[in-house]
Order: sequence, then C-alpha cells, then structure tokens
Amino acid sequence: MPLQPARTVDELRELRELTGDENGAQRVAWTETWERARAWLRGKLDGLPVAYERDEAGNQWFTLPGESDDELLIGGHIDSVPNGGWLDGCLNVMAGVEVLRRIAEEGTPPVTIRLVEWADEEGARFGRSLFGSSAASGTMADQDELRQLTDREGVALPDALREHGVDLDRALEARSQLANAKAYLELHIEQGPVLESMGLPLGAVIGTFGVERSRFTWRGQAAHAGSTPMDQRRDALAGAAKLALEIREIAKRAGGGAVCTSGGVVTRPGIVTSVVETAEQLLDQRHMDADTLATMLHEARESAERFAGEEDVEVEWERIWNIQPILFDEELIALAEESVREVSGSSHRLPSGPLHDAAEVARAGVPTVMLFVQSLRGLSHTKLEDTKPEHLELAVQALDGLAAKAMTWVARGTGTRTPPGAGTA
Ligand SMILES: [Zn+2]
Repeated sequence: MPLQPARTVDELRELRELTGDENGAQRVAWTETWERARAWLRGKLDGLPVAYERDEAGNQWFTLPGESDDELLIGGHIDSVPNGGWLDGCLNVMAGVEVLRRIAEEGTPPVTIRLVEWADEEGARFGRSLFGSSAASGTMADQDELRQLTDREGVALPDALREHGVDLDRALEARSQLANAKAYLELHIEQGPVLESMGLPLGAVIGTFGVERSRFTWRGQAAHAGSTPMDQRRDALAGAAKLALEIREIAKRAGGGAVCTSGGVVTRPGIVTSVVETAEQLLDQRHMDADTLATMLHEARESAERFAGEEDVEVEWERIWNIQPILFDEELIALAEESVREVSGSSHRLPSGPLHDAAEVARAGVPTVMLFVQSLRGLSHTKLEDTKPEHLELAVQALDGLAAKAMTWVARGTGTRTPPGAGTA
C-alpha cells in the first residue's frame, strides 16, 4: 500500500486521546503515561518485519534490515512537557512509522532503515533534556550531576530510571547504536513563527543555534528612596536596564537571525523605598555562527563595563552554560530542500532556535538534517500548539521523499562521516 499521510494525522489524534487531557499532552518521560504511549507505538509497528530493541538509555529502536548494514535513521521523541502540545516530538515518530510502512511494503531496502524513539528529549521531570540521544551520541558527560537530580516529589533520577528499566551507570552503552548510522533524519514542528509568516508549510533546517548563557551581577548601594538625590545614586538596576536595551542593538548588528534575551532580573533589596543594591541579570544569546556568537557575547560584556562606569556601580560576569552551533550536513540539506519543493513548491532554509535530538546525533558525526513544518501562531509546549492537517500530511510526504533520497545517498556510499560543520558545499 502506498504512503497514507492522512493515517499519520489520525494516529496523532488517537495518541492525543490516549495520553492527553483537557490541559494538553501528558507524556512526561519516566511516567506511566509515557510508557502507555510507548507501548501504543510498539503496537503500531506490530506486523511489520522490524526487529525491536530497547537500548541501555531507554531509547526504542525498530530496525528494518536492508541489503547493507549501513543505516539510515529516522528519529523523534514521544515524551512531552506537562500540559504540552499534540505534535511536538510525536509527529516525527508517527511520520517515521508511516515512512517505514511504505518502505517495508516495497521489499528489502538497499540499506537498513531504523526508526528511533528517543527517551526523555524534554527533560521535563528532572530538568535534563536530550537524555537518550546524548547517551547514544556519547556526549552525556554529566553522570555525577544526573545522580544528584530529583523531581518535585524528591524522587532521585537514578531511582526513577530504574523503575523504567534503565541503569544510569550503563546508559552510555547506548553509543553502540550509532555504530553503523550513515544518515539521520528528523521532522519536527517549527515551534516558531517564521514559516507561517512566510506562508510556507515546510522548510529545511540548516542546524541548531549556538547558545551563550550568562549571569551579570550588578552591585551598587542601597539608599533611601526619599532622601537620596538623583545624582548621588549608585543604582544597580540602572546598569541592568541599559544592558537589557543594548542587547537589541547587539542582535541587530550581528544579523543572521541573532537573538538576545534578558529573561530575568532579580533585584535586592527589592522594596519600593530603596535604590537597588544588587541586580542579578540573566542573558541568553544565540547565533548560527560561532564567531558572530562570540562577538555578541564580547559586545555584551564590554557594554556592561561601560554602563557600570556610567552608573558608578560594579558588574561581574559569569557564564552559566554554552553550546557551539551545530551545522547539519550540506548534502542532506540540499536533499531536504528538494523534497520540500516536490511537495509544496518552494522551500526555505532556516536555523533551529531550540535544540533537538538531531543536534546530538550530528555531534556524534552522523550526517544529519531536519525538516520543519509550520506551527500555527508559532506556539509550542502548550495545548494551543497546532498545525493544519493538510500541512501535517505534506510533512509526512516530504519526510518520505527525503527518506527515499537519503536511502539512495547512503547506498551510494556518499554518507561517509564528516565532522559536524565540515559539510561540503
Ligand atoms: Zn520536540
């Protein structure tokens, strides 16, 4: 039977009925509802000639053997945030199921095809996202921190994982799963407003943004709000306020989709009758180009020093977290664009703001690409998350077309490993 994109939409609605409630999707990883979704997924693959395996990190693998051991992977995640949307993650998985059905129907493929459903992409329960994919890619380096993590009820992460058959100490053994991987494809909702604003259903993703997260601590002098003249204040908030506006200029100068966000400022003493003594300001900066991102951070730090001088306060900078931009494979991006154009006429290349499992796979050196399908109003991680059914069907078709092209590409042996970012033009 040929590809049936409408079946994917029906199945997504079925999953929503099974694992959602009036507040949205409730498939939080390492919970019973999540396991119910995963068992449901296994049921959907019953009857297909695929081998099933659950690896050491809890990822589920469905393997359709081909004439060659070289593998084409299609992946997604079925877990959600609490009160999440009905498409984030599971669209990828269910579209992958439909593609697998189509390929299996046509007999033994030239290369091995594997569908992977990654464990705990969202990190909603313990605050550690990309669990399963980072274990498989070998980048999981925070085992000691993971051991200390607890959920809101005080349950430790290793204990929760054990209840679901995962031994944290062995999770990194999942690395062996990528040994024969020659290409990785992931379809996802955009979770942003770009495609909708351009009137396009689909786009090819060039990579995930590099991210710099900083904390600026501003220190001035608490002083009475009534008795301290304006020209004699050392107001820590004034420095933070100037920086909060300056980052708009920094992003504008950087261009290329740069974003800067001052997502929080905590002031002390934080009362209406005092000048602010300390202000702790959070800054998140993202760009696709590592050098530009470094410049953006440099400019933020330099402006902060200048504002501290102007306001007669002190400022201290601290890095909270950072990650390099991850570029997808140039040849696969070209195939993705071709597939998008075939089903919807025109394509657009765009970067991904959020991280995805695909970024982890790319970091492991597997040529990777993602497709984005339009998100209505750009909303995600809420029950309001939505995409037009006709666009969902186009997305399944585009993934199928891309899988067919990538299969040929892998079979030709062009899918040799290139380090991330070193893709040929
Ligand atoms: Zn997702």
